[in-house]
Amino acid sequence: MAYKISDDCISCGACAGECPVGAIAEGDGKYEINAEACLDCGSCAEVCPVGAPAAE
Ligand code: SF4
Ligand code: SF4
Repeated sequence: MAYKISDDCISCGACAGECPVGAIAEGDGKYEINAEACLDCGSCAEVCPVGAPAAE
């Protein structure tokens, strides 16, 4: 299990600073989560203004 960022992402960057394991980085057109590092904590979803991160 890991969180995944949908195409709704507006690349604000808020989630990256909240991730306790640094699993979020800017990707091509949106931010992306390294599924192997993600701990499923949900912090990224809590701070996202558009609800883009969701548990897979
Ligand atoms: Fe990082 Fe937690 Fe979001 Fe996974 S669910 S990407 S560990 S903030
Ligand atoms: Fe994208 Fe939401 Fe992360 Fe901002 S907080 S970069 S909109 S996923």
